[in-house]
Amino acid sequence: MNNRPKQLKLVADWERLQRIFIRPEDDDCKEILVKYMEQILFGLHDFINKNVGVTEEISLKDLTANFRDTLISPEPEKKLADVISDIISQIAPKAVNVASPYFVGHMTAAIPFFMVHLKAIVAALNQNVIKLETSKVLSVLEKQVLAKIHRLIYGLNESSMTNLTLLSSISESSKTSRLNRTSRLSEDFYNTHVQNADTSLGSFTTGGTTANLTALWVARNLFFKPFKGFEGIEVEGIAQALRAYSLDNAVLLVSKRGHFSLKKSGGVLGIGNKNVIPIDVNAECRLDARKLSETIKCIKKEGRTGIISVVGVAGATETGIIDPLEDIADICQEHKINFHVDAAWGGPVMLSEKYAHKLKGIERADSVTIDGHKQFFMPMTCGMVFFRDPLAMNHIAYHSNYVNRQGSVDLGIKTLEGSREANSLILDSALKIMGTKGYALMIDHGIETARKFADEIKKRELFELITEPELNILTYRMVPSQIRKRLETVDKDEKRELNEKIDQINITLQRKQREAGRSFVSRTRMSYKTGLNGSEQDDEVVVLRSVIMNPMTNIAVLNEVLDEQEKILKSIDWINY
Ligand SMILES: *Cc1c(COP(=O)(O)O)cnc(C)c1O
Repeated sequence: MNNRPKQLKLVADWERLQRIFIRPEDDDCKEILVKYMEQILFGLHDFINKNVGVTEEISLKDLTANFRDTLISPEPEKKLADVISDIISQIAPKAVNVASPYFVGHMTAAIPFFMVHLKAIVAALNQNVIKLETSKVLSVLEKQVLAKIHRLIYGLNESSMTNLTLLSSISESSKTSRLNRTSRLSEDFYNTHVQNADTSLGSFTTGGTTANLTALWVARNLFFKPFKGFEGIEVEGIAQALRAYSLDNAVLLVSKRGHFSLKKSGGVLGIGNKNVIPIDVNAECRLDARKLSETIKCIKKEGRTGIISVVGVAGATETGIIDPLEDIADICQEHKINFHVDAAWGGPVMLSEKYAHKLKGIERADSVTIDGHKQFFMPMTCGMVFFRDPLAMNHIAYHSNYVNRQGSVDLGIKTLEGSREANSLILDSALKIMGTKGYALMIDHGIETARKFADEIKKRELFELITEPELNILTYRMVPSQIRKRLETVDKDEKRELNEKIDQINITLQRKQREAGRSFVSRTRMSYKTGLNGSEQDDEVVVLRSVIMNPMTNIAVLNEVLDEQEKILKSIDWINY
């Protein structure tokens, strides 16, 4: 790969070291760099596409064989241009081409090409938004961008149809009973807080996991807040907190289909992840509000358990389903419980005039998680968390003597993360480039293509749709016709046996498709309530999962994915499973 004449041996010396802080080694090197950067900035995806489909066929064993060396060379081994050339020829083809329209299995997909430019600029500026002294305008910008998204969730926005619909849908009677929790925040509110050094509308985080953790950290500290004789849970720890509040334990209530980061939060926050209690879902995979209400009443009656928060999901990771946010908000309001919405996936649907209504009720949440690297189509990684109450984040404030001094405006005072990149610059620029309408086009495309895909799955004899797409995610499985017919007649036990056989078929199918490298769907396990003839049996079954977010993924592409699956089924000896 290095076809230039062999150069002098590379050495690490002081003079060269100083130079690399300023510019490439020599003109030759610069030229090569510019050429490669052009390739990367304007079409790494095209470039990879030309070489491979979704990914190159190689076993993990063969792949790891070349990555076993654990010694760091004392002398420089390669020039930057050679390193980049290696990355393009050796690494990129063996990475996964997540930008392929045939890659429809995960929440990671193509990003607009300009995101790479914006990411490069963030790296070049190398600001650290932990404090004003290392970021200045970027801390100010971050507050502004957070306020923009906060306003999308909670604010009055006359220019947006969606907010008007939301407002008019609140009946007079409920308007009064729900008091200010439903009332949308005014322009005045945003003028007061957008650049207020003492308040926070939210924070950027590394991702949805840390956004959820931050929200629940705040909720935990709010629940076990200080009073005379008790300094609060953050200071005294969980054991003292429970004692101070005369409780045996504390729980989080979440949909059974909630993301596993919520369980992690239970662990990290010292609540214990078994106290992250799953609330059952109904046949549509939505949190069952009646069961939530019963669980809360039961816990309250027993009187020894504190409920730190109820989490509703807006776009479940596996199914894309949105929990009944309004009902959950009502229940939380009735019982005065903190309400968090995990909209890591579904949040940006608020930008779509057509579909924003699906998130109705989100404006009543105490906190909301949204991922930037999902449906804001940002590069890895960017999460955000928002709080309705601009003072909520005071409950997680930390100060130190060299940064984040008392009274300073440093953003790092109220974040889980320490040093942080200036991701707000990427989101702000993207919002300017795309407008809400540009984003809405992508959101609408995903939702509408998923709908068509579901219809196609239903049409095909060999497939069974497991969850209807509410947004742009759906699950389905392949069922050979012979087994399908038998499923309809057999009893419970036999049905379970048949389902296990179907599981094996789908596991093999998914693996073979992935290995072939032309297209990719993921798989998961889901409880499956309705049964083929509507029976109430509740088996866990293996399902294939499709996430449609790439604007280049259309129904023709998805038909090819299904065609390929049919072909693979023919090639496997499933009778003997
Ligand atoms: C992706 C996701 C998360 C976790 O976000 P990360 O960015 O992967 O940490 C949490 N909740 C939901 C609903 C998600 O889809």
